[in-house]
Amino acid sequence: MIPAAYAVLDLAALKANLQQVRSYVPAARVMAVVKANGYGHGLIRVALALKEADGFAVARVEEGILLRKAGFKQRIAVLEGFVDGEELMAHQRFALEPVIHQTEQLHWLESVSLAGALRIWLKLDTGMHRLGIEPAEFQRFQRRLARCRHIVQPISLMTHLANADDTSDGKTIEQIERFHQVARGIETEKSIANSAGILAWRQSHADWVRPGIMLYGVSPFPERNARHYGLQPVMSVHSRLIAIKQLRRGDAVGYGGDWRCPRDGRLGIAAIGYGDGYPRHVATGAPVLVNGQRVPLVGRVSMDMIALDLSDCAKAKVGDRVTLWGEGLPVEEIARHAATIPYTLLCGITQRVRIFEADPAILHGEDLSHPLTRHYSATAE
Ligand SMILES: *Cc1c(COP(=O)(O)O)cnc(C)c1O
Repeated sequence: MIPAAYAVLDLAALKANLQQVRSYVPAARVMAVVKANGYGHGLIRVALALKEADGFAVARVEEGILLRKAGFKQRIAVLEGFVDGEELMAHQRFALEPVIHQTEQLHWLESVSLAGALRIWLKLDTGMHRLGIEPAEFQRFQRRLARCRHIVQPISLMTHLANADDTSDGKTIEQIERFHQVARGIETEKSIANSAGILAWRQSHADWVRPGIMLYGVSPFPERNARHYGLQPVMSVHSRLIAIKQLRRGDAVGYGGDWRCPRDGRLGIAAIGYGDGYPRHVATGAPVLVNGQRVPLVGRVSMDMIALDLSDCAKAKVGDRVTLWGEGLPVEEIARHAATIPYTLLCGITQRVRIFEADPAILHGEDLSHPLTRHYSATAE
């Protein structure tokens, strides 16, 4: 039985996107960002598909431990680093590379006795004001870190760009310059670029790049879809029509009755909603594919269902496949209709959505029609 709501992942696309990253930055090493459960695609599955990456980056130590326990041998940077001695020791035990971004971490590095070598990244705050030390503090950190016996020297340096997704914003160049003011002349590994940096800011490329969203086949820029950058979508989310109704002009649809049928017409109900991670804020008029044809979503998104105007989709029947985003319907477009960014849609897919690495319809050698539909249409003929 094929579940009502499911995602199909194109792992070949993930691999191709990594190659595409390399074509943008042939000289740099690639630290594939797989935080937040591989942007909702599954941490281990994504890391396996990206095993050619030079390293991985995760947000939190527990994500790094999962990768090590699964047997990955690459370097792994932990972007939030540690907050106490126990987490510091876990970094060492699992050969994870913490990002050092504040004085408290220095205290821990100086007071915990580590059994062996620890590689670290020192993060400079060049203007994002989230994590990182002030450039003026750099020498103090460098001096104290140089005295910690177990830290591998030279330490690596990184920063993060706040506005790189806006290609007309001068702040990115300021950040890059501020980073180089500190890092210039220091012979060590340096890393600045996220996906937007890789695609739009050549000056940010440095030794290591940290692509996230582009690996998953999604553009970091609001105005351009991934295809423009030669990236292929990895996740497609599907459901099916579970009901079709005839409506009369003026009928109100869904909670609150926000949307009224402007003419007599056909309404389709698909089995997916915010309980699956399809955002409640997707607005009336957002496109949805029914058997590959675009139809508009109407009314409010419910927990388990959405309504579609099928007036111009005469052939649609119960059991037909509905695609929420993916191949043929960029997630970037849906994000705009939900007044959000594609990252939140990918990460927001819930446990209820089954993930397949190949299209289950092809896998089972059958179409996606609900058995009941086939029965009914057969008897009607
Ligand atoms: C999430 C993250 C990235 C990846 O960003 P994308 O926009 O997904 O490419 C890179 N670096 C840091 C520090 C991050 O937190």
